[in-house]
Amino acid sequence: LNALDQISIQFKDYSLNGFSVSGLSTYVQVPEMDLCFDMGECPLSAVGLNHVFLTHAHGDHSRCLMRHDSLRKMMNIEKPAVYYLPDYLVESAKALFKAESKFEGVSEEKYKEPFVIGLNPLGENIPLVYRKDLAVQAFNVQHSVPAVGYTLYRRRKKLRPELIGKSPQELIELRKAGTQINFEILDPTITFIGDCLGISLIEEAHIWKSETLVIESTFILEDEKKMALKKGHTHLADIVSALEIYGDNSPCQNVVLKHFSMKYSKGVIQNEVHRLIPERFKNRIHLFI
Ligand SMILES: [Zn+2]
Ligand SMILES: [Zn+2]
Repeated sequence: LNALDQISIQFKDYSLNGFSVSGLSTYVQVPEMDLCFDMGECPLSAVGLNHVFLTHAHGDHSRCLMRHDSLRKMMNIEKPAVYYLPDYLVESAKALFKAESKFEGVSEEKYKEPFVIGLNPLGENIPLVYRKDLAVQAFNVQHSVPAVGYTLYRRRKKLRPELIGKSPQELIELRKAGTQINFEILDPTITFIGDCLGISLIEEAHIWKSETLVIESTFILEDEKKMALKKGHTHLADIVSALEIYGDNSPCQNVVLKHFSMKYSKGVIQNEVHRLIPERFKNRIHLFI
């Protein structure tokens, strides 16, 4: 297992690239959207991505946050990357950045704090700093430490229904007069959860509206259900339960399973997924292994 050996899954107009094994490292890059979820490792392919979303503080998800920033500085990338964190982690993340920089011998005057945005997990969606066609919203999930998931929306503008049928000239006049002629539509495109208990997949029903849902499946064997609960992780059986509740009427086309325990071989994972996932959902399941 090598966190720099990347897995890649290609969907119609975006791809997921990275690595995710429980306890070792998790990072999932979406280059078409200029972003990376979690930063448990920072390969060169992640350095140029301008938006990074951190789900929680566990080292296997967060360890290379600072490295992303320092590699950019080393490569003279002037544009500051944006680090999105749940708001309660902002202070300690900033302290960590500063401490690491001091450890490396950077003087106080030369230190430049990375661009960090704290998201309220109960708050509104906000447009991405460098990609106004996308917006992000954080939401709480249950884990052994405070943790969030993120939903990424595509933003579209649509003409207000009462204005349909007006000529382009009339619309221009209306806009000049200060009338809002469009309204915004948000299409939930990718939901990414770092780590969570299986119950979060049921409590957070909105995640099943995303076109692609990336979740963890740390434990998969029949006798590990208690272990999953104890460690704050999802068991494959929890995913089956959530699919039984939401799967049939869900617009979610891709369910990507990641963060398997390192003790399973690929074959064991494939077998258990094949055995447990009901036939009608199988074509939507993708394994990030
Ligand atoms: Zn983890
Ligand atoms: Zn964790």
